[in-house]
Amino acid sequence: MMQIYRPLNQIGFVYREIRQGLADIEAMFHLLDQQPEIADAPDAKALDLTGPVLAFEDVHFHYDADRPILKGVSFTVPAGKTIAVVGPSGAGKSTLSRLIYRFYDAISGRVTIDGQDVRAVTQPSLRAAIGMVPQDTVLFNDTIAYNIRYGRPDATDEEVAEAARMAQIGEFIDGLPQGYDTQVGERGLKLSGGEKQRVAIARTILKAPPILILDEATSALDTQTEREIQSALDTVSRGRTTLVIAHRLSTVVDADEIIVLRDGVIAERGRHAELLAADGLYAQMWNRQREAAEASERLRAAEDDP
Ligand code: ATP
Repeated sequence: MMQIYRPLNQIGFVYREIRQGLADIEAMFHLLDQQPEIADAPDAKALDLTGPVLAFEDVHFHYDADRPILKGVSFTVPAGKTIAVVGPSGAGKSTLSRLIYRFYDAISGRVTIDGQDVRAVTQPSLRAAIGMVPQDTVLFNDTIAYNIRYGRPDATDEEVAEAARMAQIGEFIDGLPQGYDTQVGERGLKLSGGEKQRVAIARTILKAPPILILDEATSALDTQTEREIQSALDTVSRGRTTLVIAHRLSTVVDADEIIVLRDGVIAERGRHAELLAADGLYAQMWNRQREAAEASERLRAAEDDP
């Protein structure tokens, strides 16, 4: 009997490993899709964090040599401050976040954290220091609790629930028949873009990284969801060195500095009121978004009250 049992047991073990592996592989493919060839420098050291100050120093980058994407971008995110990057679609905003996390490396210039070139430090130490809330969160085919706890595997159930509450997704989870044990992902409950992003925020709250990159979803969210996500993001970014890649200008009004990127260069920079007064690209974008928001509010009001 034992002779049969042992191999079967092993198969069960391997199966669990593979199943776990598949979920991770999905996330890995997502990463690999972006860039498989980033390696640690032979003499790479662990990132040494004090500030942490994040800086782009004259960064040039292209995906294809005949099409430059960033053409000499320099700016600093001081320790504990929030800097927002805005600009037309395709300007290169999300590319900035990919260079910090080293999905890609700059062609020339440097991205530094506390003066250390991100290419000179070990990738695990870099990724441990950074929390990234991406545009599209890939959820593991597992429970909601697993997906949140991924931010810090040793977190207790109470800590997971507290993170969910702070990310404004706790009530939603409590309302599900199986609560935190609900299966999500491809083979489970399908969450909306806004719900997935709040799961990612809860995960990041648990991870409590000193540096935060928020890449806002481009998809339109209803006003209530947008408000909830904004409040969750405010909670997670308080006191952290934060770079917000913003697609909705409503999320940047309180930023310590706003960088306006156009065609791979910084076209304008300053605080919200200064940029409005300058009456340039930012002011144009702001007015356009406000008009669009007002028009959709009018439409909604007309639908509610025909
Ligand atoms: P959006 O506001 O629409 O999200 P963005 O400013 O964040 O735009 P990026 O995602 O940084 O823009 O992309 C900048 C440019 O680089 C785009 O024209 C895009 O098509 C191109 N690009 C992005 N990723 C790749 C890639 N992996 N290979 C080739 N080109 C890419």
